[in-house]
Amino acid sequence: MPVRDTVIDWSNHHLFQPLLYQVATAMLAPGDIAAPICHLLRRQRNVTVAMAEVTGVDAANRRVLVNYLGRPDMPFAYDYLILATGASHSYFGHNEFAPFAPGMTSLLDAESVRAKVLKAFETAETARGPGAASRPAHLARARPTGPISCARATGAAPARPSQRARLGGQP
Ligand SMILES: Cc1cc2nc3c(=O)[nH]c(=O)nc-3n(C[C@H](O)[C@H](O)[C@H](O)COP(=O)(O)OP(=O)(O)OC[C@H]3O[C@@H](n4cnc5c(N)ncnc54)[C@H](O)[C@@H]3O)c2cc1C
Repeated sequence: MPVRDTVIDWSNHHLFQPLLYQVATAMLAPGDIAAPICHLLRRQRNVTVAMAEVTGVDAANRRVLVNYLGRPDMPFAYDYLILATGASHSYFGHNEFAPFAPGMTSLLDAESVRAKVLKAFETAETARGPGAASRPAHLARARPTGPISCARATGAAPARPSQRARLGGQP
């Protein structure tokens, strides 16, 4: 039986999140880890892609409600619905940590971290005074691949498992 699929995403691109660390540390460009959803699915003739924000589901009438091109709550009819909205970070009840440890799930997040990292290097380059030349610039605490790429970017050795355990990090 022929099937018609509609992919609805508020962003126009598919993002390979595991490489966000590399964008944040200026090792890769944003375009290296993201591709337009339309392009990826261009050979699927039974697929329609809509860039729109899903705002609700009217399950009784089998309709997804979307904010589409400025039109709020526009209904998209469906027979079968798959909701796969991804995940976000959590501070486990400590939202006051957010300004010091911003989450990183989108390209915008990674670009914002990258801006801070590059500015920190620039500031370190121009630092004067006792010990300025030898002052280490380290980025600490991230998920598994984070410390590796950050350490490479800073020229520091990645933390050993024993160090990570002391810092409360994952192996
Ligand atoms: C920094 C980082 C590193 C990671 N490293 C690894 C790793 O090394 N190995 C591993 O296995 N996993 C890793 N993950 C996890 C992995 O990337 C995710 O588990 C995976 O991307 C989840 O896929 P998904 O399709 O469920 O969600 P996503 O890929 O997040 O897709 C969800 C989509 O829904 C869209 N969306 C959300 N809300 C709406 C809405 N209201 N309306 C319209 N569209 C909406 C979003 O734009 C997005 O395109 C990492 C994640 C991060 C953030």
